Amino acid sequence: MSKKSILDTGVRKVKNVGGFHFGSGSLEELPTYVETRRAIAREQKKCEGVVFLVDHFFRGQEEILARIGAHVSDRIAFVETKDEPTTDGIDQLTRTLIAEGYGEPAALVGMGGGITMDTAKAVSNLLTNGGRAAQYQGWDLVKRPGIYKIAVPTISGTGAEATRTCVMINKENGLKLGMNSDHTVFDQIVMDPDLTATVPRNQFFYTGMDAYIHSVESLSGSYRNPVGDAYSRETIQLCRDVFLEGDMMSSGSREKLMVASYLGGCAIATSYVGLVHPFSAGLSVVLGLHHCVANCIALNAMEEFYPDGWAEFTRMARGQNISIPEGVCARLDEAGFRALYDATVIHEKPLTNALGEDFRAILTYERVVEIFQRM
Ligand code: NAD
Ligand code: ZN
Repeated sequence: MSKKSILDTGVRKVKNVGGFHFGSGSLEELPTYVETRRAIAREQKKCEGVVFLVDHFFRGQEEILARIGAHVSDRIAFVETKDEPTTDGIDQLTRTLIAEGYGEPAALVGMGGGITMDTAKAVSNLLTNGGRAAQYQGWDLVKRPGIYKIAVPTISGTGAEATRTCVMINKENGLKLGMNSDHTVFDQIVMDPDLTATVPRNQFFYTGMDAYIHSVESLSGSYRNPVGDAYSRETIQLCRDVFLEGDMMSSGSREKLMVASYLGGCAIATSYVGLVHPFSAGLSVVLGLHHCVANCIALNAMEEFYPDGWAEFTRMARGQNISIPEGVCARLDEAGFRALYDATVIHEKPLTNALGEDFRAILTYERVVEIFQRM
């Protein structure tokens, strides 16, 4: 009897978002979705208040905030994006909302990038399940559906609007892991490409590349899922249109990248990444670099593993006049490289997908250090 692979763990069971509204001007639909939930709460004699978690970039942008459907009795909380979400930060925000009387809101809206959308997913689950965020880091640990949640992405690429996870860093044990659960999937998403016009160019490129990179990784791996493959192929094609043809931030390109992000998110649910994400996770955990720029730094040093993806990525960056940070490991000592190595090889599933079960024979300590030194 052949040994069971660690990749036979059922990324075949898939839940998609409840529904979406797509297109320029879609933000106008948000108040309707919110009012529907308020009406249901009123009928059930429950709290009609709605919580809006909004990327801090929109603080003071009254013209946009006037269009989200918030009443004076609702709670708008701005989400800082300097650091990626931590389990402690999620616990703190949840406690604050409960203390302010928003423990069971009619709906919870997450409007922003991956940080804000992941925060909304995690808080929604915690409000109905109780306990602390760290208890739910892992697979299928969330028992009850969360508060009805709506995403409004304002930057495209991670696919967080479509996935069944919300990534958080646990500072106590150094674990960067999400609440992987069907209950984490958004009930509704509003995708309005007009909202991404203000993203700074570098950030737009780095985050957009997340969709391209995880699709390249999935299609190069040994694990195959025909649905995931189809999503990944289309995601790559859309990224080519956006980053190789003309200005990546034209309205047509921003619309395409929003589709690529969503499809890429659907692809993640049914596939595994490869080498780039584990190395990127090492950079995030040890050096505090954010996910998307860390991915670009990692792929930039991986020509030997992804020659075609690397070459295309390089053309995309040059064509859009974006520079990828270099020399990020220049000042590390032996202990620093050891920490990077440990934080990388811990990701057994994607590394097995990329290199096979004996991946440690290929990714020796010396080889991993040499790759990091190139970043
Ligand atoms: P982000 O939330 O990190 O935001 C990036 C920057 O862009 C921030 O400074 C933010 O304030 C700014 N910004 C966002 N929208 C803007 C707009 N319209 N105009 C101007 N500035 C704007 O963005 P991200 O790269 O989408 O997310 C990264 C996070 O997503 C990480 O925490 C990562 O772990 C997580 N992630 C989650 C998943 C998932 O499936 N849940 C997948 C991949 C990554
Ligand atoms: Zn990613």
